[in-house]
Amino acid sequence: MPTPLFLVHHHGGIARGSQLGPFGCTRRDLAAAVRRQELIRIRPGVFAAPSCPVLVRTAALHGGALTCAGALRLHSVWVLSDDSSPHVWLGQAGRAHAHAGCGCVGHYRNGTMTLGLAPVEDALAHSYACLGEEFFFAAYESAWAQRLIGAAARRRIRDALPPRARWLVDLARHDAGSGIESIMRLRLHLLGVIVETQVEISGVGRVDFVIEGRLIIEADGRGNHDGSTERHRDLMRDAAASRLGYETLRFDYAMIIHDWDAVVAAIFAALGRVRS
Ligand SMILES: [Zn+2]
Ligand SMILES: [Zn+2]
Repeated sequence: MPTPLFLVHHHGGIARGSQLGPFGCTRRDLAAAVRRQELIRIRPGVFAAPSCPVLVRTAALHGGALTCAGALRLHSVWVLSDDSSPHVWLGQAGRAHAHAGCGCVGHYRNGTMTLGLAPVEDALAHSYACLGEEFFFAAYESAWAQRLIGAAARRRIRDALPPRARWLVDLARHDAGSGIESIMRLRLHLLGVIVETQVEISGVGRVDFVIEGRLIIEADGRGNHDGSTERHRDLMRDAAASRLGYETLRFDYAMIIHDWDAVVAAIFAALGRVRS
C-alpha cells in the first residue's frame, strides 16, 4: 500500500482522511504517520504534508481552499498585490471553522471546492470580484502566457464573470511580456489610446507597444532591466529606434503603479510631438 504521505502528496499536499480511506489508508495509519511526524494534523480529519505551504494549511484550518492572490502566486501567476491574509474559498455554503489567529477572508462561491490550492481558473474568477479589474486582467494574461488556462478554462472564466466585466477577457492577449505591461495596456485602452502590442521592429527588436506608428513605449517589469548588460541593451535599442524615426518612452513598475499621472502626461506630450 502507498504510504499515507504519498497519498497526501497525490491529493495536492493536503487531504481529508475520508479521501484517503478508499486507497486503503486507515485512521490508525494516519495517526501513526502523524506520530512519526511524516504528516501534520491540521484539524480533526484533515492532514497535510510538511511541504504544504503555510497559507494553504491556514485555509484548510479555516475550512476551505486558498484562493485569490495567495493561490495565484503559488501557481506562479503574476499578481499586482498580495492579500494580507488568506482568502479562503468555502464552496457555496461551506462552514468556516474558528481557529486561533484567524484573519481569513471567506469567499462563498459556486464550484467544486476541495481543500488545498484553488485551481487557477477558480482563483482568477474569485479575484475579479475581490481584487478588481486590474488585478484580474494582469493575472489572467500571466496565466494565459504560461499556458495555465486553456481555451475551455478561458471560456468558463468568462462565463463566471459578470457580463459587464467580460470585455476584460476579450481584450486579453496570450503574449503579454509581463504583468506591468498588462496593467499599462489596460490603462491605455481605458484612456482610448490604441496601441500595437509586442511589435517587431527590424533593427530594434521586439518592443512592448507602438502608438501611431511612431511612439515606442516600454514597460520595464520588475527585475528585467536592472543589470548593466540589460541597461546597455536598452540604450542600444533606443538609439536604433531613434535612427528609424521613433521616439521611445520607458517606464518602470514604480512609475506605472505609483505615478501614473506622470506617465500619462509624458505619453500625451510625446504624442503631440510625433503628430506635429
Ligand atoms: Zn481563518
Ligand atoms: Zn479574495
